[in-house]
Amino acid sequence: MSQTPAVPADSAPEKRLDGASASPEKRDFIRQIVREDLAQGRHRSVRTRFPPEPNGYLHIGHAKAICLDFGIAAEFGGACNLRLDDTNPAKEDPEFVAAIQDDVRWLGFDWANLRHASDYFEVLYLAAEKLVQQGDAFVCDLSAEQVRQYRGTLTEPGRNSPWRDRSPAENLDLLRRMRAGEFPDGARTLRARIDMASGNINLRDPALYRIKHVEHQNTGNAWPIYPMYDFAHALSDAIEGITHSLCTLEFEDHRPLYDWCVDKVDLAGHPALLQPLLDKGLPLEAARPRQIEFSRLNINFTVMSKRKLTQLVLEGLVEGWDDPRMYTLQGLRRRGYTPASLRLLVDRVGISKQNSVIDFSVLEGCLREDLDASAPRRMAVVDPLRLVLTNLPEGHEETLTFSNHPKDETQGTRQIPFSRELWIEREDFAELPPKGFKRLVPGGEVRLRGAGIIRCDEVIKDTNGTITELRGWLDPDSRPGMSGANRKVKGTIHWVSATGGVAAEIRLFDRLFSVPRPDDESEGKSYRDYLNPDSRRVVTGYVEPAAALAAPEQSFQFERTGYFVADRRDHTADRPVFNRSVTLRDTWAAQA
Ligand code: ATP
Ligand code: MG
Repeated sequence: MSQTPAVPADSAPEKRLDGASASPEKRDFIRQIVREDLAQGRHRSVRTRFPPEPNGYLHIGHAKAICLDFGIAAEFGGACNLRLDDTNPAKEDPEFVAAIQDDVRWLGFDWANLRHASDYFEVLYLAAEKLVQQGDAFVCDLSAEQVRQYRGTLTEPGRNSPWRDRSPAENLDLLRRMRAGEFPDGARTLRARIDMASGNINLRDPALYRIKHVEHQNTGNAWPIYPMYDFAHALSDAIEGITHSLCTLEFEDHRPLYDWCVDKVDLAGHPALLQPLLDKGLPLEAARPRQIEFSRLNINFTVMSKRKLTQLVLEGLVEGWDDPRMYTLQGLRRRGYTPASLRLLVDRVGISKQNSVIDFSVLEGCLREDLDASAPRRMAVVDPLRLVLTNLPEGHEETLTFSNHPKDETQGTRQIPFSRELWIEREDFAELPPKGFKRLVPGGEVRLRGAGIIRCDEVIKDTNGTITELRGWLDPDSRPGMSGANRKVKGTIHWVSATGGVAAEIRLFDRLFSVPRPDDESEGKSYRDYLNPDSRRVVTGYVEPAAALAAPEQSFQFERTGYFVADRRDHTADRPVFNRSVTLRDTWAAQA
């Protein structure tokens, strides 16, 4: 992975949040290819697919593939299928299938057809018999270890399997017996008969089928053999009439095999192979697909392989797949990332064949940009310190009107209770202020956001010397609408009524890893050694009632504090729970 410079958050060519553009087809090389293909009349319409393997939850890298596959179909008036690549039943689970569908919809997309590679098992098997009859595939009795020995290396050609020249009739008999479940796991494979001397190792007689007596989540125990990825993927694309099969760069070396499978089977020329699907009533569009590769999304400070994300969950290093610190789509969602912010990220990063690592601040910047424009403002105190305004009568309560968004009047206003006793942020008071401190100090004045100017008269401490309460005076002439309301004071702080506010659990999340390259194993370490011990801190704070009443997943800017979301699972109006999605400013940049 090359370390090309990351995109700085403020280098956005355009500010837009929906991923759409005036001339989408000009945006990248893939869209240019699609546009040209349509202009040349090569296809009636564009068909793409997003083909996840249901062996884990989708991560932020998948968001790039989803936005590209579904985005291109939508922009060019085509269709995109969601296809679960379920050819490896041992690792696959219906829980993952459900989460994948949820994630794609959440990102704002919908599929033309929901398919599974397993829907095509009959067709794939007929295609395998066809290859055998053509002399293009053979049943090989070498063990996995022997296959490795025969394969050769990058610099040395491989050797032909001793079973390579079996007759088509013998191969067909053996394949049928494999299919009938006669042989144990690993005893034989069906291999393509291509070229053991090829410079491309993928073409050295790759396996097409292996024996695995494993129950499958869709097909049960119907199949003791399962197709290999390259074979299943290429033919599934052809079956669905995929015009542009978009995938990441690691598949570039597989493209010759992909093309070989498509051409040798030639579904379009042999429609009888598709009969099992017609029997099932599946609509067909068989066509010759073209594979195009693009670079993966990589972001520093994250891990993004399903294997590592799975380990984090299984080892209890996080609290589950949707832990708000996880880089799964479920985790990001629970953290408060919005679909628009992720689409903006994909748009900003762009599509190319150049590998690069995006700086984490670009991701955070996209969320800030979306929420700054859309999230209502609220007041919340995360680290509360009591302030009593002694010149207000005991039990004094009133209601103040605040606008919900400084730049968006359509968001309207809300009522906030104001009272004699308030919570303010502990860090907004300093007994011995550092230089340049603009907030509350003993004897000093500060503006309470939207309520008036106060003076601190008294600091009350417990026996340990910890400050437990401030007592102060509210200037009656500085109240909203009064003559002194605009009098100049240095600072403004936020507050929540101690009597009208609501106690809330506030989860202060930060990056899960404390180093830019948690995947770096060069010093004998693993990403486990780089977990940020401060990535989750839970405190009890106070929020204004309009925040407590939020629906789960509603995002807010808590003024001066950050962007927060009402937790998707745990938040209720009686027991509010908020997750910090992102701070207002990039606090890591200063440290770097
Ligand atoms: P991982 O390697 O992270 O475990 P995967 O590639 O095995 O993921 P699949 O379920 O095979 O996961 O991926 C489905 C699709 O998503 C593929 O087309 C793949 O190319 C694409 N994809 C996976 N990771 C990324 C990424 N980081 N950036 C862009 N696309 C990705
Ligand atoms: Mg994969």
